[in-house]
Amino acid sequence: MAIPFPKRKVSRAVALEELAILEQTYPNAVTALQYGNPFELLIAVILSAQCTDARVNLTTPHLFAQYPDAESLARADQADVERIIKSCGFFRAKAKNIIAAAQGLVAEHDGAVPGDRAALEALPGVGRKTANVVLSVVFAEAAFAVDTHVFRVSHRLGLTLATTPRGVEEDVTKLVPREKWRHAHHWLILHGREICKAPIPLCARCPVVMCPSRAIVARAAKEKLSLRAATMSSRARRGTLVSR
Ligand code: SF4
Repeated sequence: MAIPFPKRKVSRAVALEELAILEQTYPNAVTALQYGNPFELLIAVILSAQCTDARVNLTTPHLFAQYPDAESLARADQADVERIIKSCGFFRAKAKNIIAAAQGLVAEHDGAVPGDRAALEALPGVGRKTANVVLSVVFAEAAFAVDTHVFRVSHRLGLTLATTPRGVEEDVTKLVPREKWRHAHHWLILHGREICKAPIPLCARCPVVMCPSRAIVARAAKEKLSLRAATMSSRARRGTLVSR
């Protein structure tokens, strides 16, 4: 049973308090993706769609051993790339996209990763989230990427009611000073990975005491327990009837 998000946003004062706690809790949060240069980060972020960073980190060393730069990846055979990245999921589309992105880098940017949003988003397989990660991590630009963790945690904290990643980005960036946007993304991701997990957040371990989802999570847990108790008692009753 999915835990519903709060139906109302918290006040600005509460939101700022929640974000301050996350900032204190995760002062050194950085991307979990391992990369050695902008090209590797770009490719790793494309591969991380619908896949864990840990899985991507197991895959990219093999990929970059074979294709260390945009030039070599641009010339790659798609079937060979698919074989290497298979465990990342959606491997056919991802192989096609990373080869096309590498071809775009070679054709338009001499093989280098551009530090410009429009140029990044023009590359195949690169959407706003990927561009935001590259801009903030590689170029230290003020950018706030919304992935599945950021989307979920922002809603649970009552920072947003937006139904799209772009809407969440707009709401959260109104609360965080521009120079901290690139860090705020990592606070929320880390919190989502370690404590505010999907589907069951570990509220008892969470430092954000004013979170509006605490009560919702507690209610959902209680309902689950009652449902389980009701199921067990109905099974027991059926067992009694059968054995008579
Ligand atoms: S209190 Fe629970 S729902 Fe709220 S942020 Fe913490 S872990 Fe997530």
